Amino acid sequence: MIRVGVAGAAGRMGQAVCAAVEAADDLVLAARADPALGVELADILGDVDVVVDFTVPETALDNARACVRAGVHVVVGTTGWDPAQLTGESGGGNVFVAPNFAIGAVLMMQFAAQASKHMAKAEIIELHHDRKVDAPSGTAARTADLMDGDVPIHSVRLPGLVAHQEVILGDVGQTLTIRHDSTDRTSFMPGVLLAVRKVADLDTSPVIGLEHLL
Ligand code: NAP
Repeated sequence: MIRVGVAGAAGRMGQAVCAAVEAADDLVLAARADPALGVELADILGDVDVVVDFTVPETALDNARACVRAGVHVVVGTTGWDPAQLTGESGGGNVFVAPNFAIGAVLMMQFAAQASKHMAKAEIIELHHDRKVDAPSGTAARTADLMDGDVPIHSVRLPGLVAHQEVILGDVGQTLTIRHDSTDRTSFMPGVLLAVRKVADLDTSPVIGLEHLL
């Protein structure tokens, strides 16, 4: 059994992760950390094998460092920070980071990267719920990184949305649109649980992107 701690456990994603871990036969929800619960990450590190972090951009790096130094593996879904800052960090715990844990979004990024090699220009429109704190989204930034050329990103924040992205490619007399929609946060949970199960076995750290675990 893998003992899992959730950082940001009172948040939208954190609550969904807690429910998914509790429903998994091979995982134990050992601890929850969140300011709203009065529990700090440091308080739970002695009780867990893996931390799942869905917190805020300002704290994701410090949280990941604290895990690594405590010998605890960490799966980070928080966006809006630079995982490259973790390179060279050592202490025993592995770090896995994914800007998007939904399989459809991973495929969207791969198809967009492939299409950008063949079409003249592209732009990204990413649309999220209006309480998302970072813009552009981590998924859009990662998609643009994977694509050829300079790809502008447009961000939309509205109530009623969850997480959506369109990559529009244009060339002479034609366009190609690749679109992914997460209509519910459960779309991210199979990817999160896969990462929890595999993070201890990574050959290098940090590893960025769910495609590396598929
Ligand atoms: P949210 O509802 O605001 O939840 C974040 C929670 O983390 C809040 O309860 C917050 O408490 C808490 N928190 C802040 N600092 C903390 C710390 N040091 N230790 C423990 N908990 C802390 O946000 P969300 O919608 O769940 O999104 C969380 C993150 O996941 C965002 O960066 C979002 O972009 C990302 N996300 C990633 C994916 C993916 O597939 N990778 C999918 C969806 C969302 P306070 O409110 O008191 O600050």
